[in-house]
Amino acid sequence: MKIIVTHDVDHLSVNEHIFNDLYIEKLILRDLIQLLTNKITITEYNLRIKELLKNKISYLKELCEFNLKNNIPANFFLASKKGRSLSYSNKQLDDALKLLKSYENTHCYLHGIKNETKEKIIEEKLIFEKHLKTKNTGIRMHYLAKNNFFKNLSKTGYIFDSSFYEIKNPYRVDGIVEFPITFMDVYDVPLVKYNKQNFEFIKNETLKKIEYCNKIGLKYLVIDFHDRYFSKAYCNYFNWYKFLIQYLKNKKFSFTSFSEIEMNKI
Ligand SMILES: [Zn+2]
Repeated sequence: MKIIVTHDVDHLSVNEHIFNDLYIEKLILRDLIQLLTNKITITEYNLRIKELLKNKISYLKELCEFNLKNNIPANFFLASKKGRSLSYSNKQLDDALKLLKSYENTHCYLHGIKNETKEKIIEEKLIFEKHLKTKNTGIRMHYLAKNNFFKNLSKTGYIFDSSFYEIKNPYRVDGIVEFPITFMDVYDVPLVKYNKQNFEFIKNETLKKIEYCNKIGLKYLVIDFHDRYFSKAYCNYFNWYKFLIQYLKNKKFSFTSFSEIEMNKI
């Protein structure tokens, strides 16, 4: 079993959301409800408020430093269009790509918004490639519309997709190789207050899942972690990612990236 680490870049700053969407308003309300219902600690709550005031809700640099220190190849998905609380500009995209490319073993692909038609997929791909300054061969949808997805995606120049969450080996549909997401922060870390006992529970559930993946002979274990959560303001997510990487490293699993995989053999 090989490990593929991926990161979705949904937010780059607080400011991009002002007058564009309701992400910040919803976030303030959500955090307050989570504090009042005892789902987060007061420290986390205060740190989240501080993040908003400091216009700092992106942790690309910190995450890259962590991955570099641990020798982890990372695959980032970034957007070139806006939609569904994803509101950063193409200028911000350029800055993010520049930062990510300054790190070795970091690969960038499209975080897709549009998939209703082939034309929309191609248009979005071309915009992204202008910023990436090279061909883009992979995609992960920000939110997935399942109808005709693979049919629309085929013959648009894409080689692989990684949008679906399930425990399954990569498979081919309409000429596209699908790499299902095995672990995702928001699905595999329950919303419980951060403390020793709860975190032990989270770790055990993750260990059980890794063991199951190994047992069924999963070839690629795909992790999706949002850089947004590489922060002490989100203790469970933050510590879970660090634990997961450390555990897989200690167990001597090898890490790979989409670019190293021979796709024609899948
Ligand atoms: Zn997303």
